[in-house]
Amino acid sequence: MALSVVDLYRDILPKTNCGECGHPTCIAFAGQVVADGLSLSECPYLSAETVERCTVELKEQYAKGKWVRRDMAEDALAWARERASNMDPATFPARLGGELIMEEGRPVFHLPYFADTLRIRELAIATRTEIPLTRWEQVFILNHLAQGGTTSPTGKWKGFIELPNTTSKIKNMVDSVENPISKAFSDNLLLLKERALDLGGIVETEHAGSADIAFRFFAFPKVPVILLFWDADVDEGFEAKAKLMFDETVTDHLDIESIVFLGEELARRLVESTS
Ligand code: SF4
Repeated sequence: MALSVVDLYRDILPKTNCGECGHPTCIAFAGQVVADGLSLSECPYLSAETVERCTVELKEQYAKGKWVRRDMAEDALAWARERASNMDPATFPARLGGELIMEEGRPVFHLPYFADTLRIRELAIATRTEIPLTRWEQVFILNHLAQGGTTSPTGKWKGFIELPNTTSKIKNMVDSVENPISKAFSDNLLLLKERALDLGGIVETEHAGSADIAFRFFAFPKVPVILLFWDADVDEGFEAKAKLMFDETVTDHLDIESIVFLGEELARRLVESTS
């Protein structure tokens, strides 16, 4: 028999909402026990026998994943590792750029990544600058290792919306990439330029179009990204606007979800120092 949040609250907990477990209510505590594996023994009003009996049932449902809160980043990382684990590192340089270097008798793949260099050995990823990578970053890096084809950029640029099968992800790109950049650098082009150059961006003129300023980044050697930025114009009533452009070959190198993660990482790195 499984124990739901309601079962725990109704049948097991004292329902006094005393707060001694660190949670404001018994139902909040029950939620953490069921979804996040918090120990029932944190409630001092349960007998050892009750804790032991319920813990046996809870362990069974945790093992089955029943009602457990999914760690989406961990799931995505496990999937990306599995994908990349079938790849032969000897193919990486020809497919992705970068180089394979023998270090202490083992091949280590060095892959340029924005202004940094990744050092990848047996799917363990480190950076030259020793800046730690987020789990979502590791996901799109591993997906690039697994998927990255041999095509080189053609110089034909497309907005995210023009890439195939992006409909369900357009909102993510706008909400978590373009809008934060627009907001952070509205009326502050100098700061945007400083941050973009720090990330290895170069000022883009050829494909800037009507933008006030544009930068080209190399996320990976074969994955260039252009950031277009139009500053706010109070007189005309325009708010600042940012837009990412991708080479038409980007989907040979990353799946659509990973393209969004990459955009989010670019936005995070640009914006973080302004907050
Ligand atoms: S310590 Fe026990 S009784 Fe008090 S709020 Fe937490 S779960 Fe409820």
